[in-house]
Amino acid sequence: MTDDPADRTLSPDEAFEVLGNETRVDILRALGGADAPVSFTDLRRRVGMTDSGRFNYHLDRLTGHFVRNGEDGYELRRAGERVVEAVLSGAVTDAPVLERTEIDQPCHYCGAPVAVRFREERVELYCTECAGTYAHTEPDDEGCTDGDADYGYLGYHPLPPAGVADRDPEAVFRAAWVWGHLELLAASAGVCPRCSATLDRSTRVCEDHDSNAGLCDACGRRYAVAIDLECTNCIYGESGAAVVGLADSAPLVAFLLDHGLNPFAPTAETLPAIGRAYNNFDEEVVSTDPFEARFTFAAGDDELALTVDGDLSVVDAERR
Ligand SMILES: [Zn+2]
Ligand SMILES: [Zn+2]
Ligand SMILES: [Zn+2]
Repeated sequence: MTDDPADRTLSPDEAFEVLGNETRVDILRALGGADAPVSFTDLRRRVGMTDSGRFNYHLDRLTGHFVRNGEDGYELRRAGERVVEAVLSGAVTDAPVLERTEIDQPCHYCGAPVAVRFREERVELYCTECAGTYAHTEPDDEGCTDGDADYGYLGYHPLPPAGVADRDPEAVFRAAWVWGHLELLAASAGVCPRCSATLDRSTRVCEDHDSNAGLCDACGRRYAVAIDLECTNCIYGESGAAVVGLADSAPLVAFLLDHGLNPFAPTAETLPAIGRAYNNFDEEVVSTDPFEARFTFAAGDDELALTVDGDLSVVDAERR
């Protein structure tokens, strides 16, 4: 422990208390918009506050954990930058809504047009024809869970509100794929995409799986194998088909790249084939005890079969 205010750390309660003030958030935003350290007087002017004593009080509350007071003036520390980033991403303030809109993208399963909808920092994907990937259980704004009967739910990609601004629905969909895929890469490698702590992962298998009609009545999913990821530190959690845990698999990434499909930078032309490779794979549960499953992905005329263990670690990769 030192007396250096830069080493002061805050409890979550203290941090919420410090940030729960408009002037302090204005100070962080003003520093976030500055290219160089800012003097006390200049900062007070930028925030538009005349009472020097009150301004000093608020600035002092931020100094240490969020703001550094160096020789050249005040500047953001990394924690202050994170707050400004969260505010400007729209996560704290904006709630744009994109009503369900049909876009020029084919469903991975049936080829019918996909519809996208943005709400609650998610781009939800729907098929306008088939049953999709998952039964839709999340209530809509009116609390209904059955309002999507005309649409099959294909899942979602996360996207901060800023990602919706200045983009048409097709571009929103592509941005959400890129953003969501980066998140998936960290998550599949066991690193929480929110806080970087370790993710616990577990695998579930539907014992009575029958998805001939699209979705299984027993589990509500197209695929029998599901993965659950849960952060050991923060509130992040994710569940989904096995591919959620395979995004970081080198044989899968190499297979796609060899077919001109770059999942990190998809174009309007490559995204349908990339989406199909990740979402429309064959699943075979080889054994339940010990667990072993084989997933076969397709690109062009070729196939890649990945055999995985109970941790969804790849134990064998075979191209055909
Ligand atoms: Zn479909
Ligand atoms: Zn099932
Ligand atoms: Zn976390």
